[in-house]
Amino acid sequence: MRVLSGIQPTADSFHLGNYLGALRQWVLLQDTHETYYMVVDLHAITVEQDPKVLRRRTRVSAAQLLALGVDPDRSALFVQSHVPEHAQLSWVLECQTGFGEAGRMTQFKDKAAKQGTDHASVGLFTYPILQAADILIYQANAVPVGEDQRQHLELSRNLAQRFNRRYGKTFTVPEPYIVKDTAKIYDLQEPTAKMSKSASSPNGLIELLDDPKRSAKKIRSAVTDTGREVVFDPEQKAGVSNLLTIHSALSGRSISELENAYEGKGYGDLKKDVAEVLVEFVTPFQERVKSYLDDIAELDKVLARGAERARVAAAETLSVVYDRIGFLPPA
Ligand code: ATP
Ligand code: MG
Repeated sequence: MRVLSGIQPTADSFHLGNYLGALRQWVLLQDTHETYYMVVDLHAITVEQDPKVLRRRTRVSAAQLLALGVDPDRSALFVQSHVPEHAQLSWVLECQTGFGEAGRMTQFKDKAAKQGTDHASVGLFTYPILQAADILIYQANAVPVGEDQRQHLELSRNLAQRFNRRYGKTFTVPEPYIVKDTAKIYDLQEPTAKMSKSASSPNGLIELLDDPKRSAKKIRSAVTDTGREVVFDPEQKAGVSNLLTIHSALSGRSISELENAYEGKGYGDLKKDVAEVLVEFVTPFQERVKSYLDDIAELDKVLARGAERARVAAAETLSVVYDRIGFLPPA
C-alpha cells in the first residue's frame, strides 16, 4: 500500500497545524506503508516567491521533515521539481478537468479573493490538478492531509475514476487519510479560522522554528471566551477546545483526562501547560533541524536519492498514461 503527501515551502517554518494535521501521520505511516513525501516547490510558486528565499525554504522544509522523523531509508523524500513527471501528468489531467469543476475549489476562491482575481495566477487555479497528478502518479492508496485538503482529494478521486473509465484502468483511486481529532488546528487569535502559513495573524500562528519563548507567550495570550470551565466544546468554546486539542496531541493525554485534570482550575492553568508541552516538543526538534542544516551537501544528497527513487515509480505510470492517451512512443 502506497502513501503520498507533500508540503509547501511557503514559509520559514512549518506550523503546529501542519505537524498535528498531517506530518505526524506521515511519520507513523512509514511503519506500515511504502511512503513518498515531498516538498512541493511547484505548488509554492502559485503565489509569488523570491527565488533565493524559495531555495532556502525548500531545504529548511526538508530538514524539518527529517527532524520530525521522516526516515529517508524508508521513505522517498524529495523535492517535487526534481521529478518532472508530475508536471507532465498534470497537463494530461488538466485536459480531463472541466473549467467549472476546477472553479468550484473553495481554497482557490479564498486565496484568489485575498489577492484579487486579476493578481491570482492561473497556476493557483490549476493547483489542485497538479496535486491530483502528484498523488495519481505514485498510484497512492492513501494521502495523509489536514481537513482543508478534503475537497482537493475528492477532485483527485474524480479524475482517477474518469480517466479509468475513458481509457481503461490506469490509476489507483486514492483515499484521504485525515485524523479527525487533529484535522484542523485553529488560529490562536481567531479560533474559527484554520492556522495557516500564509493567512494567519502573526500572534495566531505557532511556528515550530520560532523562539520557544515567543511561542509560549502566544499561547498564553490565545483568545478564549469569557467563561471559566475548561471543557471541550468547539461550538461554544472554540479557543479552549483548540488548546485542549493541541495539549492532548502533544502530551498523549486524552481530552477527557485533561477535562478532569482542569476541574476547578482556569484557562490560565491550561495555557501555561500547553505552552510547556509545546516548548518541550520544539526545543529538541529545533536542535535536530539545525544539525541537518549544518550539512547542506548531505541534505541535498538525501533529496537527490529520494528523487531518483520517486522517478522510477513516476515514470512507470506516466508511460502507461501517454500510451493510453494515444501519444506516439518516441522511436
Ligand atoms: P498555505 O497557507 O501556504 O497554504 P498551509 O499552512 O495550508 O500553507 P500547506 O503546505 O498548504 O500548509 O499544507 C501542508 C499540510 O498541512 C496539508 O496536509 C494541510 O492539510 C495541513 N494543514 C495545513 N494547515 C492545517 C491546520 N490548520 N490544521 C491541520 N492541518 C493543516
Ligand atoms: Mg495550504
